[in-house]
Amino acid sequence: MGLVDNLNKIQSKLLDVKVKIVAVSKTQPIDNIIELYNSGQRDFGENKVQELAAKYEELKDFQIDWHMIGHLQRNKVKYIAPFVSMIHSVDSFKLLVEINKQAAKNNRIIDCLIQFYIADEESKFGFNIDECYEMLNSEEYRNLKNVNIRGVMGMASFTDDMHIVREEFKNLKNYFDLLKNDFFSANESFSEISMGMTNDWEVAVEEKSNILRIGSLIFGERNYN
Ligand SMILES: *Cc1c(COP(=O)(O)O)cnc(C)c1O
Repeated sequence: MGLVDNLNKIQSKLLDVKVKIVAVSKTQPIDNIIELYNSGQRDFGENKVQELAAKYEELKDFQIDWHMIGHLQRNKVKYIAPFVSMIHSVDSFKLLVEINKQAAKNNRIIDCLIQFYIADEESKFGFNIDECYEMLNSEEYRNLKNVNIRGVMGMASFTDDMHIVREEFKNLKNYFDLLKNDFFSANESFSEISMGMTNDWEVAVEEKSNILRIGSLIFGERNYN
């Protein structure tokens, strides 16, 4: 099956829910992105700054919403600040401050998601809930005018045990609800829960995800060479 068929197959299972699919195009050639674009797909995700910036340049004439989904180093924010549509991977206060600074330089307000550490693995980035409350309660945060926090993002453990994955997604949804209630109740744009990938997207949707980040299920296995 082709890429468009793969995407359509996922979409056909999402007819009853309002869920956005970010096609994760990391390692994929430009032609694959264009093929999906021509079928109507607009949201694409990358996890490396250099690759994201290069693809943006090559596809400047396309109306693509580019999502940064991978760990972002502060000194690289400047390369994507002019064009990035949403940064899913805000995993520290210092990073958010830098995004705000670079957004201001570009006269933009950048949509961000707070990445939470929900997995039972050491290598994953993200806030815990206490750190997040500390940030949102601070005066420095309230002075950031060029970032708009739209919701939360998380990655579940890399396991086939869907009971574990489901519990982690429930946790993230719970964090979303807490933040909505305590900080964003008057802010309608705080509405996004980015969770679910190739192996766990159906569980994620059941647990109220509304942004899926899907790579291999659309494009096939990645080739890192
Ligand atoms: C690569 C990646 C994905 C997509 O992974 P697949 O398993 O190929 O769907 C989603 N989120 C992040 C942060 C990624 O780096």
